[in-house]
Amino acid sequence: MANIAFIGLGNMGGPMAINLVKAGHQVCVFDLSEQAVANVVEQGATTQPQASDCVKDAEFIISMLPAGKHVEAVFLSENGLINHIAKGALVIDSSTIDSATSIKVGTVLLEQGINFIDAPVSGGVGGATAGTLSFMVGGSEADFNQAKPVLDTMGKNVFHAGNHGAGQVAKACNNMLLSVLMLATSEALQLGISNGLDASVLSNIMSSSSGSNWTLDVYNPCPGVMENVPSSNDYQGGFMVDLMAKDLGLAMDTAVKSHSSTPMGALARSLYAMHAANGNGAKDFSSAFNLFNQAK
Ligand code: NAD
Repeated sequence: MANIAFIGLGNMGGPMAINLVKAGHQVCVFDLSEQAVANVVEQGATTQPQASDCVKDAEFIISMLPAGKHVEAVFLSENGLINHIAKGALVIDSSTIDSATSIKVGTVLLEQGINFIDAPVSGGVGGATAGTLSFMVGGSEADFNQAKPVLDTMGKNVFHAGNHGAGQVAKACNNMLLSVLMLATSEALQLGISNGLDASVLSNIMSSSSGSNWTLDVYNPCPGVMENVPSSNDYQGGFMVDLMAKDLGLAMDTAVKSHSSTPMGALARSLYAMHAANGNGAKDFSSAFNLFNQAK
């Protein structure tokens, strides 16, 4: 069993850290929120007053923070963890951040003899709690192999995408595709509804036809078509519009840097930004269905 430090115990990090504890690892946790720390300590983790005290004996340091600026500050700032992590330890950053920051943090840590992989996840809070996340890893083969048993504790699919930053690029591609599928599914369902079709009947037809896709088949955005999805619970829970808008911003940054043309992604980013600005930021991303309400 490994000695692990876990930094960032929010909606995702909290349940991920609890799964490591349940698997028998020694886990020292830190978050700026005392309540977030208490929730995980209650399940058997330890804590320290400073993150630096948690990381100094750790073989693995896992971070699950909101954005690139938090990751850079936590590891590389003047009082950053870079000054406290043992040489040879492996940092696993599972936050969804821009690949440029990820590469920068990895490079600077490596110069100090500290190994690094980016390992963003897909699967949401449900996957974090159930231990069924997908990890998309960027880093060396050796570091990937070293991290895999730890990641297996929190996920069911662990992919090696390529070198540093590749995990973040894979995550940006996946969420850009997901957003486009959600918008297109919503648009098609609303078209059917406004032409007199029953949403459940139309969903069945398209799911069994060439329009089949994950947002239609298992995460249907039309209220009442499926039980136990956010659309049937007033779009509560699930994956927030604000987070989708953030991830689409990262996808667009990635596109600009590589001179790639991503017209569908650009439109999706605009629609999700507009939806968030209209007060829907905390709702599930399937609430974009309401963008296509037809005039009656
Ligand atoms: P969250 O806001 O719930 O949690 C972030 C945590 O980081 C908070 O508890 C905050 O107190 C803590 N934090 C911030 N700065 C810190 C610091 N300097 N030191 C210690 N702790 C600090 O966010 P989340 O939903 O858990 O998401 C975390 C990351 O995972 C994000 O990058 C997000 O994009 C990504 N992600 C989220 C989901 C999801 O469904 N929520 C799914 C996939 C990926």
